[in-house]
Amino acid sequence: MSSAGAGRVEQDVDHDYVQLHEPPSNLICSARGCGAAAQWALRWNNPRLHTPERRKTWLACDEHRSSLSEHLSVRGFLRETEPVSALATDRAGA
Ligand SMILES: [Zn+2]
Repeated sequence: MSSAGAGRVEQDVDHDYVQLHEPPSNLICSARGCGAAAQWALRWNNPRLHTPERRKTWLACDEHRSSLSEHLSVRGFLRETEPVSALATDRAGA
């Protein structure tokens, strides 16, 4: 059992932990099984998959903000955390 487990974390971060990572059109928390309205936008980047300026966005309700942030930050992926209100303003220019 000692050789299992390494090398699949980077792929799993997208698919295992959140139910979706689409553009934030519906502003629902990204945590799997959670349908709460998102309060926070976690902007992240996986340097092994993405160019440095690329940002993926996970949305989080108050309850899941810390667990989702920690999931990203322990991997070194988390870049910024913003209120969803800031995100909505952003979208006009995106
Ligand atoms: Zn949630």
